[in-house]
Amino acid sequence: MVSPLHTNGRAELRDDKVITPFGDLAPRPDIRPEVLLRLSGKLQTTLELSQLLEIFLEEIQQAVLVDGLTLTHDPSGISLATGRNSLHTANYRMQTQQDYMGDLTFHRSTRFREHELANIEGLLSTLVYPLRNALRYHEAMAAAFRDPLTGAGNRVALDKTLGREVELAKRHGQSLSVLMLDLDHFKQVNDEFGHSMGDKVLKEAVVAMTGCIRQTDMCFRYGGEEFLIMLSSADQAGALRIAERIRMGIGRLMFTSEKGSLQVTASIGCATLNMTDTMEELVQRADEALYVAKDSGRNRVISDLDMEFTEREEDGE
Ligand code: GH3
Ligand code: MG
Ligand code: MG
Repeated sequence: MVSPLHTNGRAELRDDKVITPFGDLAPRPDIRPEVLLRLSGKLQTTLELSQLLEIFLEEIQQAVLVDGLTLTHDPSGISLATGRNSLHTANYRMQTQQDYMGDLTFHRSTRFREHELANIEGLLSTLVYPLRNALRYHEAMAAAFRDPLTGAGNRVALDKTLGREVELAKRHGQSLSVLMLDLDHFKQVNDEFGHSMGDKVLKEAVVAMTGCIRQTDMCFRYGGEEFLIMLSSADQAGALRIAERIRMGIGRLMFTSEKGSLQVTASIGCATLNMTDTMEELVQRADEALYVAKDSGRNRVISDLDMEFTEREEDGE
């Protein structure tokens, strides 16, 4: 189903229209059947969402002139654009009975006319299945890079992302820091409160970590109860501030069960990139700083640069 939302920049509600893919599509007088055939063939050549949008935009120019196209799919956090943004827009919600496939917006500097909107609706029906398949592919790819328990990035994602960030930071002379975080005495949590409580603590700890970082930063599960947090554009001072915020955030989490209430603490090692570092060297320094944090009493942040204790702020503040 393709539901038109509003057109031409004003919030004009149009009747919902059901356009089934391919089947009962009566070609409009000015969409030639060969255009539709060629379009649906081309759309089947890729599973990449951005490529799919590019192909769609390019191919539909034969039937209706469009400057640009955007796709948003909030459940997957997808927001893609191709071509140019223009003043006038036509918005469509892409939906089958089973799947919501996002909102598409067509952009143009001049108003869309009725017969052009009819053409767009006809052309959109060819996009339904390719878009659904591309979204499924996108979701499968995203899941392959995610730790299923906590939703944090996994080791594969870490190597890919951090490797790229290290290269970019060095090329542009920008700061980059990483935090290596390990929950303290976590074995005791499992032993005393059970494994499922341990799992709950891990999930909540990741929520606390991601709540303290920016959208460009990322949290990865490094091992059992050990996490690596990548802080883009953060120098040592900035990274230590965020690390301390994370340490306190985790310390404030409160869990209750019939066995009583539980709080956990975390030790954090912080390392800041220098221009000769490899990714492995950066991670190793964060790991060494974490080791010092553990060795000197846990529930603290240690930086690789000075290996000094940061002031432990009172958690009650
Ligand atoms: P330290 O302060 O030195 O880090 O002590 P620790 O007890 O946290 O460290 P240790 O390495 O001895 O134990 C880690 C524990 O984390 C043991 C393991 O069962 C638990 N763990 C690892 N992964 C998971 C998981 O996915 N779920 C749960 N519930 N526990 C896990
Ligand atoms: Mg631990
Ligand atoms: Mg550990």
